[in-house]
Amino acid sequence: MATNGGSEPANDDISKTNLHQGDGYDRKCTFCKIVNKEVATELLYVDEEVTCFRDIKPGAPHHYLVVPTKHVGDCKSLNKQHVPLVEKMVETGKKILQKNNVLDLSDVRFGFHWPPFCSVSHLHLHVLAPASQMGLMSSLFYRLNSYWFVTVSPF
Ligand SMILES: [Zn+2]
Ligand SMILES: [Zn+2]
Repeated sequence: MATNGGSEPANDDISKTNLHQGDGYDRKCTFCKIVNKEVATELLYVDEEVTCFRDIKPGAPHHYLVVPTKHVGDCKSLNKQHVPLVEKMVETGKKILQKNNVLDLSDVRFGFHWPPFCSVSHLHLHVLAPASQMGLMSSLFYRLNSYWFVTVSPF
């Protein structure tokens, strides 16, 4: 088992969660491994703030994940200083959709899973399109404004 000696605060105290603290890398985190290219996943977009790749279990014909390049905990650890980051995640999601010829942004779904409905604790924005082609299970799992899936508008 991995030890708890990383740079992550061990509790949910949001005052201790700061983007600029620590090395922004959690050894136990799948998404940190993807961002750091420790697992073979095609990265569709990378810069120092955000990284985008395909969801391994797509819930729609297009299903991308946009994550902060540095480890940020789940939605519960978000605070005001993360607003520009979240906006950039949404912007990046839009760009990735456009790159993949999804031009109808009225038929997309953008959102975050609210803990504990999150399989990975690294903050991630789900970008799904077309929303009208999601299967029954995924339309429940990525349901508009449910308490487990907090949607954001791409407009
Ligand atoms: Zn991480
Ligand atoms: Zn999720």
